[in-house]
Amino acid sequence: MPKKLIGVLALQGDAPEHRQTLSDIVGADRVVLVRSPADLEKVSALVLPGGESTTLSRLLVATGLRQPLIDRTKKGMSVLATCAGLILLSKRIEPAGSSRDPLPLGLLDVRVRRNDYGRQTDSFEIPVEVKGLRGGAFEASFIRAPRIIEVGKRVSILAKVGGSAVVVREDNRWGLTFHPELTQDDRIHRLFLETSGLL
Ligand code: GLN
Repeated sequence: MPKKLIGVLALQGDAPEHRQTLSDIVGADRVVLVRSPADLEKVSALVLPGGESTTLSRLLVATGLRQPLIDRTKKGMSVLATCAGLILLSKRIEPAGSSRDPLPLGLLDVRVRRNDYGRQTDSFEIPVEVKGLRGGAFEASFIRAPRIIEVGKRVSILAKVGGSAVVVREDNRWGLTFHPELTQDDRIHRLFLETSGLL
C-alpha cells in the first residue's frame, strides 16, 4: 500500500518549520508542500501554518485552494491549524468589517479575535497542559496570537490558558492558538498524526 502523505499549506507563513517537524517524525518523503489543488489531492492530512491570516486568506482564493480545502475537510481529511491557520479554519473572526479581513473557512465551530493577546512585543511562552499528551506540560509559544472567545457545543477543549481555550478539536479538525512547530517538542504533531491514523 502506498504511504499516506501529509501536506503543509505553503502559501505564506511558517510552513518550513512544520515541514521539518513532520519530516523528522514520518520521513521527508511523506511530507508535501501544498500550493495548488493538485497538491491537495495527494495528501491525507493538512497543516495550516501560522503567518498572516489576511494574506493566507487571499492566497487561498487566488490559488483555487479554498473550495477544495473546504470539501476535503468535510469529507474527513484531518487538519491541524495553528495560529493564523486557526483563524482561517474558524467560523467567525473578529474584528470584522473591512474588505481586507480574512474570510473564515467555517470548518471549526469557534469564534476568534485576532491579536487579542497584544502586539508582537507581547508574545510569550508558557507551559500548557494538553489533554491526551503524555510527558508533562508543553512549552507553548504565543506570537500575536488569536484568542478563542467562543466554542461550539461539538468542540472539545484540550487546553486552556488563563480561562481561554488554546487547543481545541472538532472531529478531524484541530486548532491551536500557539506554535508547536517552533519548539523541539514534537508531541502535538505526533498526537495529531496518531489520532488521524497516520503514525
Ligand atoms: N496575527 C496573525 C493574524 O492575525 C497571526 C499570528 C501568527 O500566526 N503567529 O493573522
